[in-house]
Parts: sequence; structure tokens; C-alpha cells
Amino acid sequence: MELVRHSCGHERKYRLNGPAHSVRRQIEHREAMPCPKCRKAEEETKFVRECESAALANAEMGLPELTGTAAQVAYAEKCRKDAVMYARMKSTPMAEIIEAMSRPTQARWWIENKDLGMHQWLPVINDQFQAR
Ligand SMILES: [Zn+2]
Repeated sequence: MELVRHSCGHERKYRLNGPAHSVRRQIEHREAMPCPKCRKAEEETKFVRECESAALANAEMGLPELTGTAAQVAYAEKCRKDAVMYARMKSTPMAEIIEAMSRPTQARWWIENKDLGMHQWLPVINDQFQAR
């Protein structure tokens, strides 16, 4: 077992195989990175920041607040911002996109539909939600 001191300061033992120079390289590669636990924490922090900035951008565009649990709403804001971005790739006027995107207000709906393609967003919304 080789002891590796990660860039975050945490030490971890790894079973590394191969000739000495290869083991050396594997150790250096790992030393340059935070430990797996810190990497996961970093990713979670990044995800939370993305959700927060999406919520802010959506509010600035005039989109209404979403309903649902705090966790659902946070993730749904990110899904909704991505949806606006995809919808904008078409030549639809922005006001029309915002009007349509304002209709579904359940966080769950945005999460369940997050994989819709750019051509699908507006037809699906028009299909499921009456224009106000
Ligand atoms: Zn660490």
C-alpha cells in the first residue's frame, strides 16, 4: 500500500501496481487532486451553486416561483434554466419563451421533463398547460 497525501491535505492509502516509475506517476497524479471525499464535496458545492445561480437568473427573467420541496425547487430551477437556454436556440421570440416557461410551476414537472429536446419544450408546454 502506498500512502498518498492529497492536495486537500488528507492522506489515503492505495494499492498501486506496476513498475516503480509507474507507481511513482500514479502517486503524483493522485497527490495533485483532492481526496475522493473532498472531490465529492466540491462537486456537491458546485451543483448547489449552479442551482442557486439558475434560480437567480430565472427570477431575473421574470419566471414565477416554483412549488415543491426545497430540494426539488433547487434542482428544478437548474432544469428550467437549461430549458430556457435550449428553447432560445430556436428563433422563437424571448417573450414567447418566457410566457410558456411561466406556465408549469411545479418543481416536479421540470425535473420529470428535464430531458426534453430543444424542439419539444414549447409544444409540450402548449399541449399540457393552457396559455394564461
Ligand atoms: Zn480531502
